[in-house]
Amino acid sequence: MDLKTSLDIALSTKPEYILALKDMGIFTVEDLLLYFPRTYEDLSDSKTLLQVKTGEKVSMQGRLFGMRSIPTKNRKLNLIKAMFYDLHGNSAEVVWFNQPFVKRTVPMKTDVIVSGKMQFAYGKYTIQSPVVELASKQQIHTVGMVPVYPQHEVITSKWLRDKVNSLLYLTKGFEEILPEDILDEEKLMDKSEAIREIHFPTSQKKLGMARDRLAYEELFLLQLTAVQRKQEWRQSRDKDSFIKEVKMDVGFVKNFFSTLPFTPTGAQKVAIFEILSDFEKPYPMIRLLEGDVGSGKTVVAAIALLNAVLHGYQAAIMAPTEVLARQHMSSICKFIEVYEAKFPGKNPINIQLLVGSLKTKEKKQVQDAIGNGQVDIVIGTHALIQESVKFPRLGFVVVDEQHRFGVRQRERLMRQGSPHVLNMTATPIPRTLAMVAYGDHDLSVLNEMPPGRQPIITKVAPPEHREQVNLFIADRIGKGQQVYVICPLIEPSSAARPGDAEKLEVKSVKAEYERLHTVFPQFKIGLMHGKLKSEEKEAVMTQFKSKEIDVLVSTSVIEVGVDVPNATIMLIEGAERFGLSQLHQFRGRVGRGEVQSYCFLCTSPDAEGSYTRLKAMVDYTDGFKLAEIDLKLRGPGEVYGVRQSGIPDLKIATLTNGVLVVRVRKAAEHMIEKKGLDKFPKLRNMMVKLKQKLDKA
Ligand code: ADP
Ligand code: MG
Repeated sequence: MDLKTSLDIALSTKPEYILALKDMGIFTVEDLLLYFPRTYEDLSDSKTLLQVKTGEKVSMQGRLFGMRSIPTKNRKLNLIKAMFYDLHGNSAEVVWFNQPFVKRTVPMKTDVIVSGKMQFAYGKYTIQSPVVELASKQQIHTVGMVPVYPQHEVITSKWLRDKVNSLLYLTKGFEEILPEDILDEEKLMDKSEAIREIHFPTSQKKLGMARDRLAYEELFLLQLTAVQRKQEWRQSRDKDSFIKEVKMDVGFVKNFFSTLPFTPTGAQKVAIFEILSDFEKPYPMIRLLEGDVGSGKTVVAAIALLNAVLHGYQAAIMAPTEVLARQHMSSICKFIEVYEAKFPGKNPINIQLLVGSLKTKEKKQVQDAIGNGQVDIVIGTHALIQESVKFPRLGFVVVDEQHRFGVRQRERLMRQGSPHVLNMTATPIPRTLAMVAYGDHDLSVLNEMPPGRQPIITKVAPPEHREQVNLFIADRIGKGQQVYVICPLIEPSSAARPGDAEKLEVKSVKAEYERLHTVFPQFKIGLMHGKLKSEEKEAVMTQFKSKEIDVLVSTSVIEVGVDVPNATIMLIEGAERFGLSQLHQFRGRVGRGEVQSYCFLCTSPDAEGSYTRLKAMVDYTDGFKLAEIDLKLRGPGEVYGVRQSGIPDLKIATLTNGVLVVRVRKAAEHMIEKKGLDKFPKLRNMMVKLKQKLDKA
């Protein structure tokens, strides 16, 4: 028998268990041994009866006597009782419900360890349905750190402990895949030992070491894959790639800055420096520019686009929606026009918009002008990646809100001559998390806001404050301002999570849209959700922008990056249901104009428990800080924009350990760039498997 043995052979058990395991994706011994406990029950202290508190789960040594079945009227209830005496002669009754087999299996009148919950009722102590093991043999259920596995109807923790324990000797079959020097340097536990310790820890310290070991391996594989992808991108330069080494021209940067109506922030300067340095390299850049809403990404993109064009490249910027593309068109044209007015070149820079709604003839014209090289900068949507668009000298591509595009879609542009690529996102992702989720990118972070922004006033509003909030809103709209209302659901009955449908409190856009008509009969109300066609969505956004709508009721699809300076109130229904970083995204829709803006986090009646978490929104305006809190409280999948990046579920590694992530990253870079993978076939195999998994995700 070995790790590859299938479980129907390795285990003597009923077919229903084998089926349940298959259902959980567990087929072989290896799968089972890699199914890790969720947590542990600490039964390290053995107690006497006198030390035990009611309701406590305990482990005690002693003996059992007088086991008997108790006749009950209810045929469905099988009751077995016995007496337990601890080492000091104190006694308590033991009861088992519906476990007739204990009569055969529980050893009597001999030293045992029992572990179960202590109840005190009718003047006496009762131990309920305890697990009993012989004191003279190895214990796996009643002593020490007892593993608790993820809850499952059929496959219980007790069952798993028995089966895992019976196969534990096979862990020696797990091959060491980490290189010797890393194991030494990082003082990592051996893999097979780590797997044994993770199931049955011999001490807290060993458990910690086992976790470290397994976390290291998990992260190391991810980082190796990321670093390798990055290297491949650099080397994949097409033969006909148009990019060349472009020295940074400090004079140009100064000139550009002199044409701006503001002084760039330190963070913008650093990002610009990083990007222009990438242009100096003989291989294409792949960089993620992260910056909160309003941090000023557009001007960074603009100078990079200009730099590309002045060196003879064509450049493109792709946005997920037409509204966003048009917004970019107007702001980038403005930056470049002002620059050209002061520093005219030989030929004026030709900037074109390419979006789906153009007339066929117009589209054709732009496509042709791109194809014959007349267009310098094209700004557009998915329309940019249609077959009919061919760039003869594409050198630089900016993708805005890149997580909204599929990998294949982005690749379409990247494969046109391997240009430099700058992906932009308004999602503040903590650096260590970004290192994993976007490990194949270099990172530039705009972690500083332009000065002089009026902070948005944020309030948590429980149901009893709603009336007041409504009055406040009506007053603002009366003054000509606009409001967003975000709801968690589309339909009143569409349950986003099991059980939601019954809870009428969970607001849906459709019901809220109807309701608001009666609350605010004097105002125009618009509706937006993911089931609308994209043209419909665009139409609603355009109406909101042109103030034909006062209140826009929307699900979370509301466009990231849309700029409606006249919208000053963001009201979020069922706020407790959203992650902090997503709430922060919503909040970023307002506060874009001169007028004081507000964000109301309206909670459902049963949401008292979330107050502390929501309070963080009142206390912090920094998206990175909020994302970090999310990461700690709810895990990486909850940080907005991360799930879309295809980060796999991590079994052991926690990304809150920044120091570890950085160390692993360095080791992975060293491995790929200096040593190569040739001498490590096992690692390579694991990476192939991981890549398949990532591609599927
Ligand atoms: P985002 O990062 O959300 O795309 P934008 O690029 O749209 O942000 O910038 C938001 C606003 O701030 C724009 O009006 C822009 O002109 C302005 N802005 C950008 N950088 C600065 C700065 N350093 N100082 C003052 N205003 C700035
Ligand atoms: Mg933007």
